[in-house]
Amino acid sequence: MVDLKSQYDLIKTDVDQAIQNVIDKGAFINGPQVKEFSEALADYTGAKFVITCGNGTDALQIAMMGLGFEPGQEVIVPTFTYAATVEVIALLGLKPKFVDVLPDTYDMDPAELENALGQNVVGIVPVHLYGQCTNMEFILDLANKHGVKVIEDGAQAIGAEYTFSDGRKAQAGTMGDVGTTSFFPSKNLGCYGDGGAMFTNNPILAEKLKMIASHGQKKKYYHETIGVNSRLDTLQAAILGVKLGHLTRYSASRNEVADRYDQALAAVSQIKIPSRIPNSTHVFHQYTIQVDGGKRDSLKTFLQDHGIPSMVYYPIPLHLQPAYVQYGYKKGDFPVAEMLCETVLSLPIHTEMDPAVQAFIIEKVKQFFAK
Ligand SMILES: *Cc1c(COP(=O)(O)O)cnc(C)c1O
Repeated sequence: MVDLKSQYDLIKTDVDQAIQNVIDKGAFINGPQVKEFSEALADYTGAKFVITCGNGTDALQIAMMGLGFEPGQEVIVPTFTYAATVEVIALLGLKPKFVDVLPDTYDMDPAELENALGQNVVGIVPVHLYGQCTNMEFILDLANKHGVKVIEDGAQAIGAEYTFSDGRKAQAGTMGDVGTTSFFPSKNLGCYGDGGAMFTNNPILAEKLKMIASHGQKKKYYHETIGVNSRLDTLQAAILGVKLGHLTRYSASRNEVADRYDQALAAVSQIKIPSRIPNSTHVFHQYTIQVDGGKRDSLKTFLQDHGIPSMVYYPIPLHLQPAYVQYGYKKGDFPVAEMLCETVLSLPIHTEMDPAVQAFIIEKVKQFFAK
């Protein structure tokens, strides 16, 4: 699905040097590279504040703690996303309120989202799934009107740019009260282990998030609030500092791969290629097709037999996962998400994809449907 080795080979000298510098200085925790990287990422994304942390899941949790959500309150989330989004809601004693998504864009269904709002709802977590921004203008307006907070899960969409109807542009993660991202190795900006970050434009909230990520202390051994221990390693920050310099190029190469898939697969009638919306760029964390007629799994097997990996993100919607049955949802509640779990298939996409390899993948996909 990804080829991190050939990506590394092309930036090896810089990465190795960055790693060596950290080892030479020995500041493995909170070394200067952590602050340097945060500032560079703030510059890149346009966020006023970037607070790094241990991973993208922690980022979501710390965001909800920072916003002061309390047990029993409700948070709206799409049921078609990665479990991390909902897990932290549950862990904090909050109640996830699932909504269905739209079949083309994976946006939360606007009508359902509006219906889900109520007395007890304190937050909405939009997810920029697969690398394209979700309908933020609608969500932000709605949240504003109802006085609820917005936490963007931007784990899959770093660098994607959204354009508001007044022409204003903003990157994924920088539009809500807090945005989060992940530096998991296979994410678009991946480190060589775990890492994550939060974005906010609010200076008071930024201080709070930073404090919570560091055991609730601003000053060492003076704990103002209950926090967690969630840090981006200096080594990871140093690696990310190098890789951030290539992120624009990485997004461009992913788009080239996506364009080639689009061109080749648009004519295959049993396949729906990813829909692109005019008000967001796409950074193609995943290139996800939808396969009609119950053929998704046999296509996956066929590709596997020819040595081609593919993945289903995600096979079971969250409202039907055993972990979340306690919230009382049942099969049929969110038909679009349930349908998508049976039709989506993500094809290999990465920053150093050899066009000849991709041509082989395309040929095999076409061959499957020509049978
Ligand atoms: C990867 C991912 C996360 C979690 O990130 P980790 O760094 O693995 O904790 C959260 N949400 C979404 C949508 C993701 O894809």
